[in-house]
Parts: sequence; C-alpha cells; structure tokens
Amino acid sequence: MTATNGAVSTRAQLLDEIVGSERFLLATHENPDGDALGSLAGMQLVLAALGKDAVAYMAQDEFPLPYEYRFIQVENLVTEPPADLEERTIVFLDCGNIDRNPADSLKREGAHILNVDHHHDNTLFGTVNHVVPEASCTAEIIWDLMKGLGVEFTRPIAEALYVGLVTDTGKFMYENTGPRAHLMAGELIEAGVDVHAIYRRLFEGVPQGKLELLARGLTNVERFDDGLLTLTHLSRDDYAATGADESYSEGVVDHLRALEGTAVAGLVRDLLGDGESRRKVSLRATDDRIDVSAIARAMGGGGHRRAAGFSTTLEYPQLVEVLRASLAEQL
Ligand code: AMP
Ligand code: MN
Ligand code: MN
Repeated sequence: MTATNGAVSTRAQLLDEIVGSERFLLATHENPDGDALGSLAGMQLVLAALGKDAVAYMAQDEFPLPYEYRFIQVENLVTEPPADLEERTIVFLDCGNIDRNPADSLKREGAHILNVDHHHDNTLFGTVNHVVPEASCTAEIIWDLMKGLGVEFTRPIAEALYVGLVTDTGKFMYENTGPRAHLMAGELIEAGVDVHAIYRRLFEGVPQGKLELLARGLTNVERFDDGLLTLTHLSRDDYAATGADESYSEGVVDHLRALEGTAVAGLVRDLLGDGESRRKVSLRATDDRIDVSAIARAMGGGGHRRAAGFSTTLEYPQLVEVLRASLAEQL
C-alpha cells in the first residue's frame, strides 16, 4: 500500500483527530517488542480514560508473546479486526511501514489512519502522520500526547509506557536517550512505576534455553575487515538443540556490538516458521560512521541509524558478502 498522504503532520492535528473520534482500533508492528506492546497497552488506557471506545488489535499468531512481555496487560484486546472496522479510526503505533502489520483489512483504500511513530524512515502511510524521530520511543510520544489531552497518569499507564521507554533506550544507555527520556522516567516513577520490579520482569527470569542459545551465538562469532564487521548466525539446529523459542535471540547482537573495534554488528538467524527458508538479519552500528537503516532499507527492511533489520532468502555466506560490500560503501 502506498502512502495516502505522505506528509508529516503536526501534534495539534493529531490531538484534534483523537479528540474528534469516538471509536478506535490500535495496531502495532509484527513480532511486537517492548515499545510496541507498551505503546499499545498505554494508548488503549489513555483513550479509555477519555471515554473512547478503543480496541487493541494483535494477530492470533503473535501469541504466545515472548516470555518477557507476557506480564504486560493489554485491555480490550482483539485478535481479529472487529466488524465495525470501517467506522473506526486506526492508530498505528511504533510501525514504520504499514506492511509490518499482517492484517490486510487495515490497509484498505480510504482507511482513516493515525500513524504515531519514531522511526526516521517511516513511510508516512497515514492520513495523519505524527512521526517524531527525536523521540527515544513511541511511548515517549504518547507521554507527550497525554499532556496535550489532559489525561492523568495512572499506575497502569505509567507501567506500560515505562516498558517502551526502558526497552527502546537499552535501559537508558543507547544514544537515543536524551533529557526527555529521563524526565519521562521521573514522572512515570512518581506515578507509581516500580523500576526494579519491571527490570526483573523484562530482563531476568531468563529461560536456560536462552542462555544456551546465546552461548552458541557467541561461539559462532566471526570478524571481517579488520574486525569492523562482527557477525554471528543461529541455525534451525541451534534452536532445536537448545529448545529455544524464536524470540530468545533478542539481545545476542548487543554482545557483538560491544566487541572492541566493531563498527557494525550483525546477527543472522534462521526464521523457524513451517516451510520457512528465510533468515532475519539484525544490525547494530556503534557510532555515526555507519547508518545501518540504509543497509536494511536496501534489503527491503528498515529501522534506525544504529539499529535496523530485514529478512531475506539469501544464505549466510552470501549475506556476509552483501554486508561487507555495504560497509565498504559507507566507510
Ligand atoms: P531488531 O533487529 O529486530 O531488533 O530491530 C531493530 C530495529 O529495526 C527496530 O527499530 C525495528 O523496528 C527495525 N526493523 C527490524 N526488522 C525490520 C523490517 N523487516 N522492516 C523494517 N524495520 C525493521
Ligand atoms: Mn518496535
Ligand atoms: Mn520503538
């Protein structure tokens, strides 16, 4: 689907749309991460607090969610778009590209779409596009919108938004962490967030299979081009041998980015769907020399300058060559 509007909108336009609509359907990207889920849960509560009818949609095959996100409570959750979809305003959260949502019925011509996101390469597919690349996470944009809407912070709203904030900022360590991220954290903590309890839910209670999958990822590390490119791969067999779920590879690539001398780190992992023969590539850059979102876009994906991804049918050895060539182009 192509953009229906293609222009960035103002915060005021978005606020008018929210105030002026009564029924909403909220959606996010496939394989939802902490920001996707926290934004979905938080925005649903914000709209409910305004007396709106808001359903949160996620496709049935997203369930069960990765173990670390199962504690997030999404109210008014549906796994099929409701019968009155055409009368609802659709709000996409944290979704840079409408094709990152699997439901074709959300993409029909003439749909009224509010696109709320922080990806700099957002394709502006909405009727209204509130895209704020300076925001650390989509949850930060919702935090800002709440002030415009006059909605009070409750503990459940604060917890949902905090999940988006702490995951997308890498626990306040990534370069997207600005003063606003910390201001927001302060307000959310005042509203009742138990920082350590959420840390434990998100980052501890690690299943043993996840640790074993990480061990394999670290064993398979390879360096290219004087160590500027640090890669690893995880095969179907690695998942089977460790009993790992597909989502357990989350975080492996961060260990590679941390390695001395790395400019770009990448994880190539087999996708595990039935009859699937594609791979998912996660890329991370260490500094401003390289924009990994440009590499991912050229391969049909996208993301941020320092964190991006794509999927491909290329085999690992071919991917190594593609990534080496992309790196050489940018350095
Ligand atoms: P990941 O490597 O999956 O942790 O994703 C890192 C960043 O890249 C996130 O901001 C994602 O939104 C983005 N991203 C990952 N995969 C894709 C894709 N297939 N298309 C567009 N963006 C992606
Ligand atoms: Mn996300
Ligand atoms: Mn995000």
